[in-house]
Amino acid sequence: MAGFDLHTHTIFSDGTTTPADNVRDAVALGLEGLGVTDHDTTAPFEAARAACEGTGLELVLGTEFSAELDGYSVHVLGYWIDPSYPPLVEELDRLRNEREHRARAIVDKFVGLGVEVTFSRVQELAGAAPIGRPHIAQAVVEAGAAPDTRTVFDTWLADGGPAYVEKHAVAPRRAVELLVAAGGVAVLAHPGLYGTAGEPGRGGDGDGRALGPGLPAEAIEEMVAAGLAGIEADHPDHPDEHRRRYRDLAAAHGLEVTAGSDYHGAGKVNPLGSATTPREVVERLRGWRHA
Ligand code: AMP
Ligand code: ZN
Ligand code: FE
Ligand code: FE
Repeated sequence: MAGFDLHTHTIFSDGTTTPADNVRDAVALGLEGLGVTDHDTTAPFEAARAACEGTGLELVLGTEFSAELDGYSVHVLGYWIDPSYPPLVEELDRLRNEREHRARAIVDKFVGLGVEVTFSRVQELAGAAPIGRPHIAQAVVEAGAAPDTRTVFDTWLADGGPAYVEKHAVAPRRAVELLVAAGGVAVLAHPGLYGTAGEPGRGGDGDGRALGPGLPAEAIEEMVAAGLAGIEADHPDHPDEHRRRYRDLAAAHGLEVTAGSDYHGAGKVNPLGSATTPREVVERLRGWRHA
């Protein structure tokens, strides 16, 4: 399997596999490169580097950075960032702290809805990782309130759902600025999933996540002005309609089109390597550094 899977998670956020697992599986699949993009952290970098040594696999270390627009999450992938750049470190610390407050608020909402889930269990499931909604969904399943995490999202936890609590984050434009200032390259993740609170099961060939209206073009234009380099038009959960819309938008602004599996291990159905970016696109993306 050629190409780079530019979007994967590990136990350092809400994935269920270690960086070493992802590296090993990527090598076994014959991938040329692997993006390591945990939510709001650069903590997996060291383990990923160590696991990668001598394998010939090319690592693209990054983070899936949380931003928000009108109360909805916008994710921005930042590749080749300097993990010690102080303003980035500061915002990542703040975001992880914010995630903890928000998880407590979400747990309170569930309790108010009659679901007996505890914050301590959620914290146990997250371990040292920034707490994400998938950890909470798992705790809700354990509490016996739903058969699987898919149902938890569709019933309560999708953006705008009855147990949803927004996380206070910077605007998408600011996210791009920060990632670029940290020496990185910013790519808008899955814009078609923005504002997902619609009918369930209308997603693409991913996990059937509810399809949102998609991030408005004006928001993308602001990100472009801030230095956005690419759009993840080919996300597994994007239906063809969104793939086309965001490919066209990328072309109109001279941006790269990227793809990645958004692998979460057992946490989601998208298999590792199920979406890849060709090497020449990765090389062009790299050229956006300090551009
Ligand atoms: P958080 O960063 O805590 O807002 O959680 C984001 C993660 O939750 C994403 O990376 C997905 O894995 C998952 N997620 C968000 N929305 C949905 C949805 N509607 N259905 C299934 N999973 C979702
Ligand atoms: Zn995730
Ligand atoms: Fe995401
Ligand atoms: Fe992701």
